[in-house]
Amino acid sequence: MGYKPIRKNINLELGSGIHIALDEYYGSGKDPVSVFSDWADDRVKAIGSEWEDDQNNLLEAKDLGIAMLEGYLAEYEGEDRFDVLATEHTLKRPIPTPEGNPSKCLMVARLDGLVRDWDTGKLFAMEHKTYKRLNESWLDLDHQMTIQVWLGQYLAKTLGIEEEVAGVLYNGLRKQKPGPRVSVPLFMRQKVYRNANQIDVALTRAYWKYRETNRDMAIFPEPNPVRCGWCDFREPCTELQMGGDYEFLLGEFFTKRER
Ligand code: SF4
Repeated sequence: MGYKPIRKNINLELGSGIHIALDEYYGSGKDPVSVFSDWADDRVKAIGSEWEDDQNNLLEAKDLGIAMLEGYLAEYEGEDRFDVLATEHTLKRPIPTPEGNPSKCLMVARLDGLVRDWDTGKLFAMEHKTYKRLNESWLDLDHQMTIQVWLGQYLAKTLGIEEEVAGVLYNGLRKQKPGPRVSVPLFMRQKVYRNANQIDVALTRAYWKYRETNRDMAIFPEPNPVRCGWCDFREPCTELQMGGDYEFLLGEFFTKRER
Protein backbone atom coordinates (compact mmCIF):
# COMPACT_ATOMS: atom_id res chain seq x y z
CA MET A 1 0.00 0.00 0.00
CA GLY A 2 3.04 2.27 -0.16
CA TYR A 3 3.44 3.05 3.54
CA LYS A 4 6.86 3.99 4.86
CA PRO A 5 7.70 4.44 8.58
CA ILE A 6 8.50 7.92 9.88
CA ARG A 7 10.48 6.55 12.83
CA LYS A 8 13.49 4.43 11.94
CA ASN A 9 14.53 1.17 13.53
CA ILE A 10 17.49 1.94 15.84
CA ASN A 11 19.48 -1.07 14.56
CA LEU A 12 19.16 0.23 11.03
CA GLU A 13 20.11 3.73 12.20
CA LEU A 14 23.35 2.44 13.76
CA GLY A 15 24.17 0.46 10.61
CA SER A 16 23.56 3.54 8.42
CA GLY A 17 25.87 5.69 10.53
CA ILE A 18 28.66 3.09 10.50
CA HIS A 19 28.32 2.77 6.71
CA ILE A 20 28.60 6.53 6.24
CA ALA A 21 31.66 6.66 8.52
CA LEU A 22 33.45 3.78 6.74
CA ASP A 23 32.54 5.20 3.34
CA GLU A 24 34.20 8.51 4.26
CA TYR A 25 37.18 6.67 5.77
CA TYR A 26 37.87 4.59 2.67
CA GLY A 27 36.75 7.28 0.19
CA SER A 28 38.45 10.40 1.49
CA GLY A 29 40.56 9.32 4.47
CA LYS A 30 38.39 11.13 7.06
CA ASP A 31 38.38 10.02 10.68
CA PRO A 32 35.40 7.62 10.85
CA VAL A 33 34.84 8.29 14.56
CA SER A 34 34.30 12.04 13.99
CA VAL A 35 32.13 11.40 10.92
CA PHE A 36 29.97 9.00 12.91
CA SER A 37 29.74 11.29 15.93
CA ASP A 38 28.65 14.26 13.75
CA TRP A 39 26.14 12.05 11.93
CA ALA A 40 24.63 10.86 15.25
CA ASP A 41 24.34 14.45 16.56
CA ASP A 42 22.54 15.49 13.34
CA ARG A 43 20.15 12.53 13.64
CA VAL A 44 19.35 13.37 17.29
CA LYS A 45 18.50 16.93 16.23
CA ALA A 46 16.43 15.71 13.27
CA ILE A 47 14.40 13.31 15.45
CA GLY A 48 13.28 16.21 17.64
CA SER A 49 12.50 16.24 21.33
CA GLU A 50 8.93 14.89 20.90
CA TRP A 51 10.47 11.41 20.38
CA GLU A 52 12.48 11.33 23.59
CA ASP A 53 12.79 7.52 23.59
CA ASP A 54 14.17 7.54 20.07
CA GLN A 55 16.63 10.28 20.97
CA ASN A 56 17.83 8.31 24.02
CA ASN A 57 18.18 5.14 21.93
CA LEU A 58 20.20 7.06 19.40
CA LEU A 59 22.48 8.52 22.07
CA GLU A 60 23.14 4.97 23.30
CA ALA A 61 23.79 3.89 19.72
CA LYS A 62 26.20 6.82 19.38
CA ASP A 63 28.30 5.54 22.31
CA LEU A 64 28.28 2.03 20.89
CA GLY A 65 29.14 3.19 17.35
CA ILE A 66 32.06 5.31 18.58
CA ALA A 67 33.46 2.35 20.56
CA MET A 68 33.04 0.06 17.53
CA LEU A 69 34.82 2.47 15.17
CA GLU A 70 37.65 3.20 17.64
CA GLY A 71 38.14 -0.57 17.90
CA TYR A 72 38.01 -0.86 14.10
CA LEU A 73 40.84 1.68 13.72
CA ALA A 74 42.89 -0.07 16.41
CA GLU A 75 42.44 -3.35 14.53
CA TYR A 76 42.89 -2.29 10.91
CA GLU A 77 44.39 1.19 10.54
CA GLY A 78 47.42 0.82 8.27
CA GLU A 79 46.83 -2.97 8.13
CA ASP A 80 44.23 -3.25 5.33
CA ARG A 81 45.48 -5.62 2.65
CA PHE A 82 43.56 -4.18 -0.29
CA ASP A 83 43.37 -1.12 -2.56
CA VAL A 84 40.04 0.68 -2.68
CA LEU A 85 39.00 1.22 -6.32
CA ALA A 86 35.55 2.66 -5.55
CA THR A 87 33.47 3.41 -2.47
CA GLU A 88 29.70 3.41 -1.97
CA HIS A 89 27.64 3.21 -5.17
CA THR A 90 23.94 2.56 -5.70
CA LEU A 91 23.69 0.41 -8.80
CA LYS A 92 20.74 -0.53 -11.01
CA ARG A 93 20.83 -3.26 -13.58
CA PRO A 94 17.96 -5.01 -15.41
CA ILE A 95 17.52 -8.62 -14.37
CA PRO A 96 17.96 -10.75 -17.51
CA THR A 97 15.17 -12.92 -18.89
CA PRO A 98 15.91 -16.66 -19.34
CA GLU A 99 16.80 -15.78 -22.97
CA GLY A 100 19.42 -13.33 -21.72
CA ASN A 101 17.58 -10.11 -22.66
CA PRO A 102 17.10 -7.25 -20.18
CA SER A 103 13.73 -7.52 -18.40
CA LYS A 104 11.70 -4.57 -17.13
CA CYS A 105 12.66 -5.43 -13.56
CA LEU A 106 15.67 -3.63 -12.14
CA MET A 107 17.96 -5.07 -9.48
CA VAL A 108 18.84 -2.11 -7.26
CA ALA A 109 21.48 -2.44 -4.57
CA ARG A 110 24.07 -0.44 -2.76
CA LEU A 111 27.65 -1.59 -2.96
CA ASP A 112 29.94 -0.45 -0.18
CA GLY A 113 32.96 -0.55 -2.42
CA LEU A 114 35.13 -2.37 -4.92
CA VAL A 115 38.60 -3.42 -3.79
CA ARG A 116 41.62 -5.28 -5.11
CA ASP A 117 42.85 -7.81 -2.60
CA TRP A 118 46.65 -7.88 -2.20
CA ASP A 119 46.89 -11.55 -1.32
CA THR A 120 44.99 -12.97 -4.31
CA GLY A 121 45.25 -10.03 -6.74
CA LYS A 122 41.53 -10.44 -7.38
CA LEU A 123 38.65 -7.96 -7.31
CA PHE A 124 36.10 -8.12 -4.51
CA ALA A 125 32.94 -6.20 -3.76
CA MET A 126 33.19 -4.77 -0.25
CA GLU A 127 30.37 -5.24 2.24
CA HIS A 128 30.39 -3.53 5.64
CA LYS A 129 28.07 -5.28 8.06
CA THR A 130 27.20 -4.66 11.67
CA TYR A 131 25.98 -7.75 13.50
CA LYS A 132 25.14 -9.05 16.94
CA ARG A 133 25.55 -12.72 16.16
CA LEU A 134 26.81 -14.19 12.94
CA ASN A 135 26.30 -17.59 11.40
CA GLU A 136 29.13 -17.74 8.89
CA SER A 137 27.73 -20.79 7.09
CA TRP A 138 24.82 -18.61 5.99
CA LEU A 139 27.16 -16.59 3.76
CA ASP A 140 27.36 -19.49 1.27
CA LEU A 141 23.63 -19.23 0.59
CA ASP A 142 23.18 -15.50 0.87
CA HIS A 143 21.74 -14.11 -2.38
CA GLN A 144 22.74 -10.61 -1.34
CA MET A 145 26.43 -11.57 -1.62
CA THR A 146 25.82 -13.12 -5.05
CA ILE A 147 24.02 -10.06 -6.37
CA GLN A 148 26.78 -7.82 -5.07
CA VAL A 149 29.29 -9.77 -7.14
CA TRP A 150 27.06 -9.42 -10.22
CA LEU A 151 26.67 -5.68 -9.64
CA GLY A 152 30.35 -5.37 -8.75
CA GLN A 153 31.22 -6.72 -12.21
CA TYR A 154 29.03 -4.02 -13.70
CA LEU A 155 30.72 -1.36 -11.56
CA ALA A 156 34.19 -2.63 -12.55
CA LYS A 157 33.20 -2.33 -16.23
CA THR A 158 32.03 1.26 -15.76
CA LEU A 159 35.47 1.96 -14.22
CA GLY A 160 37.14 0.45 -17.31
CA ILE A 161 38.26 -2.75 -15.54
CA GLU A 162 37.50 -5.81 -17.70
CA GLU A 163 37.85 -8.44 -14.99
CA GLU A 164 35.62 -10.82 -13.11
CA VAL A 165 34.77 -10.01 -9.48
CA ALA A 166 35.76 -13.05 -7.44
CA GLY A 167 33.46 -12.49 -4.49
CA VAL A 168 32.62 -10.26 -1.56
CA LEU A 169 35.01 -9.08 1.11
CA TYR A 170 32.75 -9.31 4.14
CA ASN A 171 33.81 -6.65 6.62
CA GLY A 172 31.92 -7.39 9.82
CA LEU A 173 31.77 -5.24 12.96
CA ARG A 174 30.12 -6.75 16.01
CA LYS A 175 27.69 -4.49 17.87
CA GLN A 176 29.63 -4.77 21.08
CA LYS A 177 31.81 -2.44 23.10
CA PRO A 178 35.20 -3.87 24.03
CA GLY A 179 35.70 -4.65 27.71
CA PRO A 180 37.55 -6.94 30.13
CA ARG A 181 34.70 -9.50 30.09
CA VAL A 182 34.27 -9.51 26.31
CA SER A 183 36.05 -12.49 24.76
CA VAL A 184 34.24 -12.84 21.40
CA PRO A 185 36.00 -11.45 18.31
CA LEU A 186 34.72 -7.96 17.58
CA PHE A 187 35.63 -7.94 13.90
CA MET A 188 35.37 -10.49 11.15
CA ARG A 189 36.82 -10.29 7.64
CA GLN A 190 36.06 -13.07 5.24
CA LYS A 191 36.34 -13.52 1.50
CA VAL A 192 33.07 -14.98 0.25
CA TYR A 193 33.58 -16.43 -3.25
CA ARG A 194 30.93 -16.73 -5.95
CA ASN A 195 31.01 -18.53 -9.31
CA ALA A 196 29.05 -17.97 -12.54
CA ASN A 197 26.56 -20.72 -11.67
CA GLN A 198 25.67 -19.12 -8.33
CA ILE A 199 25.05 -15.83 -10.15
CA ASP A 200 22.81 -17.58 -12.73
CA VAL A 201 20.80 -19.28 -9.98
CA ALA A 202 20.26 -16.04 -8.03
CA LEU A 203 19.23 -14.12 -11.17
CA THR A 204 16.88 -16.89 -12.33
CA ARG A 205 15.19 -16.93 -8.91
CA ALA A 206 14.96 -13.13 -8.88
CA TYR A 207 13.46 -13.09 -12.38
CA TRP A 208 10.75 -15.64 -11.57
CA LYS A 209 9.99 -13.98 -8.26
CA TYR A 210 9.48 -10.72 -10.17
CA ARG A 211 7.18 -12.51 -12.65
CA GLU A 212 5.15 -14.03 -9.82
CA THR A 213 4.78 -10.87 -7.75
CA ASN A 214 4.08 -8.79 -10.86
CA ARG A 215 0.80 -10.65 -11.27
CA ASP A 216 -2.23 -9.51 -9.30
CA MET A 217 -1.62 -11.90 -6.45
CA ALA A 218 -2.77 -11.84 -2.85
CA ILE A 219 -0.04 -11.46 -0.22
CA PHE A 220 -0.78 -12.58 3.34
CA PRO A 221 1.23 -11.69 6.45
CA GLU A 222 3.24 -14.63 7.73
CA PRO A 223 4.27 -13.93 11.35
CA ASN A 224 7.75 -15.18 12.06
CA PRO A 225 9.99 -14.38 15.05
CA VAL A 226 12.93 -13.21 12.94
CA ARG A 227 11.03 -11.17 10.36
CA CYS A 228 8.54 -9.66 12.81
CA GLY A 229 11.36 -8.73 15.19
CA TRP A 230 12.72 -6.35 12.58
CA CYS A 231 9.48 -5.34 10.91
CA ASP A 232 8.54 -1.65 10.89
CA PHE A 233 4.88 -2.67 10.59
CA ARG A 234 4.75 -4.79 13.73
CA GLU A 235 2.47 -2.42 15.68
CA PRO A 236 -0.21 -1.94 12.98
CA CYS A 237 0.08 -5.64 12.12
CA THR A 238 -0.64 -6.60 15.76
CA GLU A 239 -3.44 -4.05 15.98
CA LEU A 240 -5.03 -5.41 12.81
CA GLN A 241 -5.09 -8.93 14.28
CA MET A 242 -6.68 -7.57 17.46
CA GLY A 243 -9.38 -5.76 15.49
CA GLY A 244 -8.03 -2.38 16.64
CA ASP A 245 -7.56 0.88 14.78
CA TYR A 246 -4.49 -0.06 12.73
CA GLU A 247 -5.35 2.63 10.18
CA PHE A 248 -4.82 5.28 12.88
CA LEU A 249 -1.30 3.93 13.46
CA LEU A 250 -0.60 3.90 9.72
CA GLY A 251 -1.80 7.49 9.41
CA GLU A 252 0.13 8.70 12.45
CA PHE A 253 3.49 6.93 12.20
CA PHE A 254 3.88 6.32 8.46
CA THR A 255 3.96 8.35 5.28
CA LYS A 256 2.51 7.10 2.03
CA ARG A 257 4.13 7.08 -1.37
CA GLU A 258 2.19 8.72 -4.19
CA ARG A 259 2.69 5.70 -6.41
S1 SF4 B 1 4.89 -7.91 11.76
FE1 SF4 B 1 5.67 -7.54 9.69
S2 SF4 B 1 6.79 -9.40 9.15
FE2 SF4 B 1 5.46 -9.92 10.86
S3 SF4 B 1 3.58 -10.69 9.90
FE3 SF4 B 1 3.28 -8.51 10.29
S4 SF4 B 1 3.86 -7.50 8.37
FE4 SF4 B 1 4.71 -9.60 8.30
